[in-house]
Amino acid sequence: MTDAILHTRNRSADTPSFSNASIDARRIAATPRGVGIGFSIYAQHARNAELWDVEGRRYIDFGSGIAVLNVGHRHPRVLQAVEAQLENFMHTAYQVVPYESAVALAERLNRLAPGAHAKKTAFFTTGAEAVENAVKIARCATGRPGIVALGGGFHGRTFMGMALTGKVLPYKAGFGPFPGSVFHVPAPIPLHGVSVADSLRAIEHLFKADIDPRQVAAFILEPVQGEGGFHVAPPDFMRALRALCDQHGILLIADEIQTGFARTGKLFAMEHYDVLPDLMTVAKSLAGGMPLSGVIGRAELMDAPAPGGLGGTYAGNPLAIAAAHAVLDVIEEEQLCARAERLGLRLKQQLQSLREHVPQIADIRGHGAMVAVEFMQANGQPDPAFAKQVQQRAQAAGLLLLTCGTYGNVIRFLFPLTIEDGVLEEGLAILAQALRG
Ligand code: PMP
Repeated sequence: MTDAILHTRNRSADTPSFSNASIDARRIAATPRGVGIGFSIYAQHARNAELWDVEGRRYIDFGSGIAVLNVGHRHPRVLQAVEAQLENFMHTAYQVVPYESAVALAERLNRLAPGAHAKKTAFFTTGAEAVENAVKIARCATGRPGIVALGGGFHGRTFMGMALTGKVLPYKAGFGPFPGSVFHVPAPIPLHGVSVADSLRAIEHLFKADIDPRQVAAFILEPVQGEGGFHVAPPDFMRALRALCDQHGILLIADEIQTGFARTGKLFAMEHYDVLPDLMTVAKSLAGGMPLSGVIGRAELMDAPAPGGLGGTYAGNPLAIAAAHAVLDVIEEEQLCARAERLGLRLKQQLQSLREHVPQIADIRGHGAMVAVEFMQANGQPDPAFAKQVQQRAQAAGLLLLTCGTYGNVIRFLFPLTIEDGVLEEGLAILAQALRG
């Protein structure tokens, strides 16, 4: 065992023993650059919307570990649930010896997911794995190969995830070939010159030029594009997709991995629409920081794969399942859907008030507390340099912000929905400073 490892194991939890720079040098030597990092600070501990690095510096966390912490870092209810489960068992492999808590969570999600129809839920570990399995289920249930996704969409880093993702750099470059029978059409984003009619025409063209709609198993889309820039799918587009699905026997898959669990002011973003998906992928905030994902769908579709066709060694890990029950309890008890609306409005109000001082602000958008601000140059071109600058200024003042967007010119806000009002205001004040320069 090296000294460094011994040192790591022996150090007391609250005594900073490392500098960020020294760990960063070790990271660069020990881990590949392909696993890019957002900030060169190293976490020491965290609580709700605050995080402290190994040098004892405090940050307000407006990123929530990429939308995972809707109930904050280490919510006491989540900790309690995981600790209680630790006393019983950490792993049996659900497919070998199952447990009631997973069945109860499936029942709960089946009840909570939009639509009164019979549903079933299968658990996995990562978001990408949920996407992979939604595609497996859709193909198996329809007997068709084709999957249609949107430009700018993000669905994960596995091979099907990459194939479905509509952004080459950095996600796909150098990693092909990808699985076949995957097609992209432009997402309807009027700000970028693509109307709903343009997107629908592209689908019509796809069905004429590339694939018979009777060979398409599913459309997959995020109700609000996450990595792509927090673009909300227009309701008339969602309605038109549903109609095309019904016309051609195609399934509609809503990827709710980033939008789920109260983020948008509803438990699921599909509740903002008057049409239902056939399958939904969930992950991230489902288990408050424990790795857990799932596919929730129409019972008859979910039962298409034969026994053994779905699953995974860690799928539905019992600690993660316990955490997920606690997360759902917290969302309900602390009325986080309503709180997301309130916090999102406060944030939008702050951004609007800065508009006259910050000409780079081209758009402020989003549902609930899934809000983003997009920056353009005076000539109307995307301004990723300004987004980066705002992010760096905010970090220097103790606020962690995430960027996103096809052009990297968007800052997205994903603070915990449990954030204390005072901490939110503190973060908004730093944001204002960072935007004004
Ligand atoms: N789908 C969406 C909409 C996502 O936002 C993400 C993660 N950013 C994924 C899929 C992939 O999830 P994971 O990183 O857990 O594999």
